Formats: sequence, C-alpha cells, structure tokens
Amino acid sequence: MYDIIVIGAGPAGMTSALYAKRAGKSVLVLEAKAYGGQILNASLVENYPGMPNVSGFDFATNLYNQIKDLGVDIKFEPVLRLEKNKVITSKDSYEAKAIIVATGVQNRKLKLDKEEELIGRGISYCATCDGNFYKDKIVAVNGGGNTALEDALYLSNIAKKVYLIHRRDEFRGEAKYLEELKKKENVEFILNATISKLNGDDKLESIVVNDKEIKVDGLFIAIGQTPKNEIFAGLLELDEKGYIISNDSVHTNVDNIYVAGDTRVKDLRQLTTAVSDGAIAATKAIQEMED
Ligand code: NAP
Repeated sequence: MYDIIVIGAGPAGMTSALYAKRAGKSVLVLEAKAYGGQILNASLVENYPGMPNVSGFDFATNLYNQIKDLGVDIKFEPVLRLEKNKVITSKDSYEAKAIIVATGVQNRKLKLDKEEELIGRGISYCATCDGNFYKDKIVAVNGGGNTALEDALYLSNIAKKVYLIHRRDEFRGEAKYLEELKKKENVEFILNATISKLNGDDKLESIVVNDKEIKVDGLFIAIGQTPKNEIFAGLLELDEKGYIISNDSVHTNVDNIYVAGDTRVKDLRQLTTAVSDGAIAATKAIQEMED
C-alpha cells in the first residue's frame, strides 16, 4: 500500500507528488498518456512568478525530472475505476491511504464532421507540438482565449499566413497578446465567425467560415477545455459541467480523496493555481493521515 496515489501527471499532480515525497511519504503517480498536461501546449509561460520565460515543455520536464530524482514511482497506465482506497488501472490495482485526483481537462472539440479523422492531417489542438509542420503554409486558429492568442502568435513566426477566427468581436485572452498580434502583418482576424465545415479527404484542404470557403493547410482548434471525470461520477461529487467539487482545502466529498488543478470547480485555471492546489492537496492529505 502507498501512502498517496496521485492520478494525473500535469503540474498539479506532479506538485502533489513533490510535496508528498519530500514529506517522506511513499507516492505513486498514475498517468494515462504523457507527463505535462495542458502546459505542454504553451510555447512560452510568461506569468509564472519568478520564472519569466520558460517553455511549457521545459517546465513540465523539469518538474517530472524533479519528482523522478526524488524517487516518486510513476506508471503510465490509464485509470479505469476509483474506489475509496483503491485505484484500478488497465494493468493492475493499487491501494493508498490517500488519493489525489489531478486529471486536468481535455481539449474541447468543434464537433464537426471529419474533425476526428483529420487530426494529425491538418487538424491540431497543440500549436507548439505541430506548428513546425506548417512552415510557410496557411493556417487558421479558432478561439478567443489565451491559448488561441498564444497559438496565433507562435504560428505567425512559422506560417506564411495565420487566420485568427473567433465567434465574438471581443477576446477573453490578455490584451498584451492581442496588441502583439495586431502588429503582425501575416495575421488576419476573422471575427463574429464560426467554422461550419471542414473539407478534405486525406488531409485538410479548406474550412467554411460564415459560409465562405477559406483554403488552409492547418487548423489549430483552441476553444477551451472540458473535464474528463466520468469514471469518478459514482463516487465523487461533480458539478453540472463535470468538474469535481471540493472545499478550500481541496477535499472532495470522500474522506481521503482530494482534487487538484484544472479538474476541480474553481474560478481561475492557471499554472500558478494548479501547482498551488497540488501543494495544498498533498499537505492536507498528510496532515489528515497523521491526525
Ligand atoms: P478559454 O479561456 O476557455 O477560451 C476558450 C475560447 O474558445 C473562448 O474565446 C470561447 O469563446 C471559445 N469557444 C468556446 N467554445 C467554442 C465553440 N464551440 N466554438 C467556437 N469558439 C468557442 O480557453 P483557453 O484559451 O484554452 O484557456 C484556458 C485557461 O488557461 C484560461 O484560464 C486561460 O487564461 C489559461 N491560459 C493561460 C495562459 C497564460 O496565462 N499564458 C495561456 C494559455 C491558457 P467565448 O469567449 O465567446 O466564450
């Protein structure tokens, strides 16, 4: 039996593991795919205090190496079910005195025909991962939050032309990014606009925006995220959107289960608040385990 099992190796989960291991606890981190979570999508993180210019990849990799060097066990196995003190994965089951759920969020889809089949063939949800395939090509970015603005900026330095398509004429993303984008000659804003169709068979060839066809080689969809907590639904209390409900100490409705990061109900989903949740979750879990 482990002292603490953390589900999810994004910034929140890895920070929980860091705090728990440094407190002398045995820790297992279970991750379905790859470490890093959503921060991998950030080409440059500029608002992490004291670390003004770090890439999302470097941040995640440094944190991963930090917990590995400390001796945290990390297994890449999707979690299928959660019980009060037990986590069942595709390969095994593991018991722990406390469990921290840090499963993050997944990219929201446009839910258009061909969206799934064209992933990797013109459709992407990660500009920093796939941007380099579009050198001197024409791309579009869809969305109006920080991710879309950052993606458009990043791609403007690689692609020949970038369309930034947003469904309103105001952006949620920070003004600083918007001002930088407005100075870019190869960026064209298409506002009050929605994408209604994706064309292409083997690869994306064009998109239909407000009934007009636009030829593009790539489309980067950055329209926010949704939680993926269906497997916890019978045990943990979720809100109507599927986020896990917790109190200020990130305690869920179950005694020894805590939640950290973007997957919990909260006002601000940022790197800083994710790592903060991770620290609180581990500290509270340890305190309550030792009471
Ligand atoms: P977001 O802030 O939730 O923005 C999603 C955008 O997509 C919104 O502009 C929304 O439009 C649009 N949208 C949603 N559903 C849509 C649909 N079906 N069709 C078309 N457009 C749709 O998501 P995000 O940009 O990924 O950011 C998520 C969180 O991470 C935010 O808190 C953000 O600040 C943070 N983040 C921070 C940084 C940074 O600080 N450097 C970088 C990246 C992300 P409406 O505006 O009309 O709702």
